[in-house]
Amino acid sequence: MSNLPGIVITGASGRMGQMLIKTVLDSDKARLVGAVEREGHDWVGQDIGAAMGGADVGVTVTSDALEAFAKAQAVIDFTAPAATIEFSKLAAQARAVHVIGTTGMTEEEIAQLEPSARHAVIVRAGNMSLGVNLLVQLTKKVAAALDDDFDIEVIEAHHHHKVDAPSGTALMLGEAAAEGRGVSLKDVRDSGRDGITGARKKGDIGFTAIRGGDIVGEHDVLFAAAGERIVLRHMATDRAIFARGALKAALWGQGKTPGEYDMLDVLGL
Ligand code: NAP
Repeated sequence: MSNLPGIVITGASGRMGQMLIKTVLDSDKARLVGAVEREGHDWVGQDIGAAMGGADVGVTVTSDALEAFAKAQAVIDFTAPAATIEFSKLAAQARAVHVIGTTGMTEEEIAQLEPSARHAVIVRAGNMSLGVNLLVQLTKKVAAALDDDFDIEVIEAHHHHKVDAPSGTALMLGEAAAEGRGVSLKDVRDSGRDGITGARKKGDIGFTAIRGGDIVGEHDVLFAAAGERIVLRHMATDRAIFARGALKAALWGQGKTPGEYDMLDVLGL
């Protein structure tokens, strides 16, 4: 049995779940020790490799998350808010690092992770890619350098299956812009314009969500003033960037003090 950190992937059949399984199987720094799906899912009881249409890899998909987590050093979880809260309790029980990519969590849901973070490392980020986390830092800097003559708008585009809006990444960028300006996003957030909205309020940070086709994820932060515009842009063309970032977070979390961390901690940005 190898000494490499053992990883469990939840939501194993999902778009990100399958990408994460492939990433861990291809890695020489970690090994796949579990794949979790919900009870009654077709894949439960099947080898995860075969379920994904390939050769057996010796890991059977299970619906018993705690049993799977108990064998792992880290759990990588890109599922849905309710599932992630439950998984955080089980990961804490197993003292496994919990890497959370799930987006669309409310403030109340995020607060429910706190008790688990007293016992285990949680790394949570709305976007696990290096490029987007750099963009977050750039957004903060540009927002700090400009005054509110520059209107800030965050424009994002994603595939038509996405269920939450604005995206977790758009919110990260909005938070960064607000922080740069020294304001709180909740006081200046303007999302979902429709109808006679009135003129744009100075200082607001606006959000627009585009949904269509198979777009993996695109984010623009627009700073628009009279006579000039600055656009900071990130375009993701392959989900593998999120999976690689998540695996990096799982490895980074080994041996760290329990608590809540994000990708800026992992990337040292
Ligand atoms: P998806 O294809 O719909 O996959 C979601 C997976 O989670 C499915 O396997 C689903 O199982 C499972 N799941 C949902 N609710 C569950 C529950 N209550 N209990 C157990 N399993 C449950 O979605 P996706 O595109 O992979 O995205 C998943 C999440 O990751 C979303 O929140 C998305 O925004 C986020 N995401 C984050 C990043 C990042 O870098 N942070 C990047 C990409 C995506 P069923 O099929 O049985 O429902």
